[in-house]
Amino acid sequence: MSEATTNAAKSMDDIMALCKRRGFIFQASEIYGGVNGFWDYGPLGAQLKKNLKDAWWQDTVLTPPDGPDGKPVSIVGLDSCIIQNPKVWEASGHVGGFNDPMVDDKETKQRFRADHLWGFFILPASDGSADEFRLVFERAADDPSFAPLFTCVAGASGEARDFLTSNRKKLFKQLKLKVTSEPSESDEHAVMTLEKDGQRYIGGLAPVSSEALSQSHASIPSPFTHSAGQLTPPRAFNLMFKTFLGATATEDDIAYLRPETAQGIFINYKNVLDTTRVKMPFGIAQLGKAFRNEVTPRNFTFRSREFEQMEIEFFCHPDTTREWYAFWRDTRMAWWRSLGLTGDNLLLREHDADELAHYAKTGAGTSDIEYRFPFTAPGFGELEGVADRSNFDLTQHAEHARAKLEYFDQERNERYLPHVIEPSAGADRGVLALLCEAFTPDPERASKVYMRFHPRIAPIKAAVFPLVNKDGMPEIGEKLHKELRARFGMVDFDPKQSIGKRYARMDEAGCPYCFTIDSDTLSDQTVTVRHRDTLEQDRVALDKVGNWLAEKLTS
Ligand code: ATP
Repeated sequence: MSEATTNAAKSMDDIMALCKRRGFIFQASEIYGGVNGFWDYGPLGAQLKKNLKDAWWQDTVLTPPDGPDGKPVSIVGLDSCIIQNPKVWEASGHVGGFNDPMVDDKETKQRFRADHLWGFFILPASDGSADEFRLVFERAADDPSFAPLFTCVAGASGEARDFLTSNRKKLFKQLKLKVTSEPSESDEHAVMTLEKDGQRYIGGLAPVSSEALSQSHASIPSPFTHSAGQLTPPRAFNLMFKTFLGATATEDDIAYLRPETAQGIFINYKNVLDTTRVKMPFGIAQLGKAFRNEVTPRNFTFRSREFEQMEIEFFCHPDTTREWYAFWRDTRMAWWRSLGLTGDNLLLREHDADELAHYAKTGAGTSDIEYRFPFTAPGFGELEGVADRSNFDLTQHAEHARAKLEYFDQERNERYLPHVIEPSAGADRGVLALLCEAFTPDPERASKVYMRFHPRIAPIKAAVFPLVNKDGMPEIGEKLHKELRARFGMVDFDPKQSIGKRYARMDEAGCPYCFTIDSDTLSDQTVTVRHRDTLEQDRVALDKVGNWLAEKLTS
């Protein structure tokens, strides 16, 4: 057996080649040259993905662990539509947000709204009075060639000022700027007078105009690295796929494919409360397709345009968000580990306060469960996000739909809008992580590589091989195959080729156990069992194979 190969040393090309060769994942529309950002799952991939989703449903909806209060966690399932009333996406912020022109930083791959870029501009000053700043401001608005010295992303002037306060010392030193008069506290433009190389300037903060970004993006410094030459011009960009309801296809008929499954849960929260006996705290879980018109789909299935999510929205009293957040963060991390993503390939990363999403600014926290994919190594890529969404979504829907979404808590005798902890995982990224983790090169084997799947998620649970295609062996094999298939799902039966080739095929498919009917079977009613990982072989009684396998698959 080979030494464990680190993910950094695994070749993504080799993994993708195996996925194609063995029918895990195919390029969508391959015979027509493919379609960028879409992938189809072949027979082994479809089963692998189903096993992952089944494990999630089983472990989160049907048998979740006890909660932080020591009581059983209450969760129910949901299956909402991909297309909803377009107002859902206005309320959630997806329509407004994703319609805005966006700018990409080609270097850091970060994207921001064009109208959120602020710059620090200077102009030579005569007397340096604050009035003169009007000239700076006007020029920043009107003259696209007037470039700021540095920039920041800010939704409002206050944020831009905060940025300036925190970064001024470092940036001014680099730019050799000396402040000669400080800005007044209340001035949103932070107008100040400065000196540089003996020359007097007046400077301050102003929004970078869309004109400037369109025409002079190459000379505007990035808000992330402060170097110029890496920003794209603003591009109108809607991440949501549009379609039309009905045949007329006018602007009024526009609808969207959901970009996340979460909103389907929020808009059904009241229905679930009214029709089941769930009480706070409780969760609603949903598994299903989501669509995002990603600008640069890349890294195999990692960033696709059509993908599947496994999401839980867990509703609780606002005072309990911290303990539920910690519970879900740790539970979800342990779950990925239980499926075989072990060691330091899996990482829990708590977000810094300044990268929190708009809905999570004041909450219990946000963390990403990240996996070290071969294409991110030595870095990591997000597998699942666990976020405190506060009551942001329910507030939005209560307002937009004019619906009463408050909950009356009988135990507390209190009416409130619950807060939400959201563990949101990607099934496709999960499958990709399982594939990368399982991929184990082994030059000693005929297949040169084997897929070391955890038995619980392995697509093929077992294989049955009659050693030769005669002497009654195929008949015994067929009977065993039928029995195992009825009990465990996908079980392979292969009476052809050399036994070495058949083992090699199963190694590449990641089948944990192969049972061979040989001449001894005919005399003592036992079969050879071959263990995928250790290559050990021992014998099991033919009539005990089912129970033996059951024990192995659940241990
Ligand atoms: P990223 O920053 O990588 O775009 P995100 O933070 O936008 O991801 P979320 O909106 O939190 O992702 O979605 C939850 C999960 O859905 C992610 O953790 C990921 O597993 C999955 N996911 C999101 N976008 C994609 C995509 N384009 N392709 C495949 N899976 C995705």
